Amino acid sequence: MKIKNKTIDSLGTTIFTTMSALAREYDAINLGQGIPEGDGPKDLKAKAAEFTIEGPNQYPPSQGLPELRQAVANNNKRFYGLDMDWQSQVLVTSGATEALADSILALTNPGDEVVLIEPYYDSYLPIIRLAGAIPKFVRLHAPDWHLDPAELRAACSDKTKAIIINSPMNPTGIVFSDKDLQAIAQIVLDFDLYAICDEVYEHLVFEGFKHTPLITFPGMAERCVRVGSAGKTFSVTGWKVGYISGPLHLIETIGKAHQFMTFTTPPNLQRAVAWGLGQDDAYFNDLASGLQSKRDRLSAGLDSLGFSVMPCGGTYFVTTDIGSLGYAGTDEEFCVHITKEAQVTAVPMSPFYGEDPATNFVRFCFSKSDDMLDEAIHRLGRLF
Ligand code: PMP
Ligand code: GLN
Repeated sequence: MKIKNKTIDSLGTTIFTTMSALAREYDAINLGQGIPEGDGPKDLKAKAAEFTIEGPNQYPPSQGLPELRQAVANNNKRFYGLDMDWQSQVLVTSGATEALADSILALTNPGDEVVLIEPYYDSYLPIIRLAGAIPKFVRLHAPDWHLDPAELRAACSDKTKAIIINSPMNPTGIVFSDKDLQAIAQIVLDFDLYAICDEVYEHLVFEGFKHTPLITFPGMAERCVRVGSAGKTFSVTGWKVGYISGPLHLIETIGKAHQFMTFTTPPNLQRAVAWGLGQDDAYFNDLASGLQSKRDRLSAGLDSLGFSVMPCGGTYFVTTDIGSLGYAGTDEEFCVHITKEAQVTAVPMSPFYGEDPATNFVRFCFSKSDDMLDEAIHRLGRLF
């Protein structure tokens, strides 16, 4: 038989799928894959049901329904003061995953270099490789996951086409400060780069931290695209409604990739998300404050068991260094071990590194009921 696509054929199963399957097998509390507790807000689901009956249910415009594109543009203004034309600067996609893939495919040519900050979200690298582009890695430094701008600069050259910036960041849970972003913006300008900004956790940011889109910095408006996800903003990860905004010249090309990837996204869900984005500040504030108390609950529990809990300013993930527990194996072995022996599942972080992965970091998801978090700590307490 002839050789299939080598990049795709050599891929394994994602760590999220693998760990969720193991959690099911051992009937474990799954703090691995980022799945919010519950099944999404009732009022939002009622809107989706209403709009399914009311329609439209046929192909919406490839760029997205006007009402959702307007809602995304309004949110850009409302939360960040950005003025964007909804008709030419906003595109709706089938999840942020698609927006990211479209962006990488649309902005790179074979041989271009793309800079990734390790540990990075797992969907970036396979698409970079599929595009024939070359990943360059810059590693954050534990225990506070700080970025050294000099290292970022050193990873760039005249071959670099783009950088992917994920803030608030999965898996680390950090939020880049304005100082970090200013340094990144300068590097983007100095090396004439595009920045693909994965901001799916934009509304999951905790006290003492602030999310500023890179695109708001001087000189960035023509170089950045900003990706959001209804899955994260409304705790409906199965909906796969994403959106991307940026300058016309980038959105136009990314839209060309989108038209042949999925073409469009379910219109009933687009309408519901447009409604959701129009909610008042209380919705967004409650989302973040509810999660913040869960972060504190799980972090305190893990800390009491001897885990080294690392700082978390956003997302629904807290990371830990398991070196302090005296466990002899790797992060992957550790996560299998706690799934089998304590019936609690977490995600090892080595799959989020390119070459020579760090193997002592483990990520826990805290968007779960308080009872579930307490029970997880109780179960882990039997092992540690
Ligand atoms: N980027 C990051 C950093 C994520 O954590 C996720 C959620 N898994 C995505 C992108 C994908 O979002 P979506 O489910 O909207 O495709
Ligand atoms: N974003 C989710 C996480 O980090 C996983 C998404 C997926 O399974 N593809 O846990």
